[in-house]
Amino acid sequence: MKFVLGGNWKLQINTIEDTITTLRDMTSKFGTQQIDGVEIFLALPFTLLSLAKEELKGSTIQLAAQNVASTEKGAYTGEVSVESLVELDVEYVLVGHSERRIIFGEKGPELNKKMKLLLEHNLKPVYCVGETAQQRQSGLFDEVISQQLAEGFEGITEDALSEIIIAYEPVWAINNPELNPGIEIQAATPEQAIDAHKFIRSWFVTNYSDDAASRLIIQYGGSMKPSNAETLLSQSDINGGLIGGASLRSETLGPIVDIAVKLLS
Ligand code: PEP
Repeated sequence: MKFVLGGNWKLQINTIEDTITTLRDMTSKFGTQQIDGVEIFLALPFTLLSLAKEELKGSTIQLAAQNVASTEKGAYTGEVSVESLVELDVEYVLVGHSERRIIFGEKGPELNKKMKLLLEHNLKPVYCVGETAQQRQSGLFDEVISQQLAEGFEGITEDALSEIIIAYEPVWAINNPELNPGIEIQAATPEQAIDAHKFIRSWFVTNYSDDAASRLIIQYGGSMKPSNAETLLSQSDINGGLIGGASLRSETLGPIVDIAVKLLS
């Protein structure tokens, strides 16, 4: 069994000073020794990746980006290219986070281009899927998730699946009031998460193979924190977490790492 725990800093830690302080604190607490079966990555804002590359030298914490341009190079003002991420030793890249889909209007075909571009450059996509509260209430869960998967994986071979992580992030559980106006945000129950992860794995059985589906890492994301991480991570279909708010401080990320280590022992 293996857990991949990813932190998504979004636009929450934005200065050099805060980045250095936070990374040094995290590396000293859980980033110095290889932990068998647990991988950790942190997705930082682009401008802090270069600094983080230096800070994380010799650490087991891996670097991730929150996005990438869907085109290699050209006249695309404001974009960040895959080549730049390779130079920065980035390992993982989030693709299709619900904040990108909903707030910035990113669509399936563009996300599919990003997936292919990352794979061509040996970077690992973390492909995010998830339904809104309204879609769930309207009984559209299966349709929405299947469509997001079909669009993202169009033309992607089975061989490439070992390089890709899926993050199941129900939008209603993500601690973001802008995505969830008027909704009480809370993590999925273990039962809701298990059902969703099983559904996602079965999509890969149907569209790829039993073998590929069983090896796939599917992270759960949405208000994961020390108090609920153990029940979520102890489910066999949940292979890690994509963690927003709780990844900003060692005091909250550290205990989640400890829980993963404990579950493996
Ligand atoms: C996220 O946005 O990826 C996320 C899971 O955020 P949070 O943990 O803060 O809900």
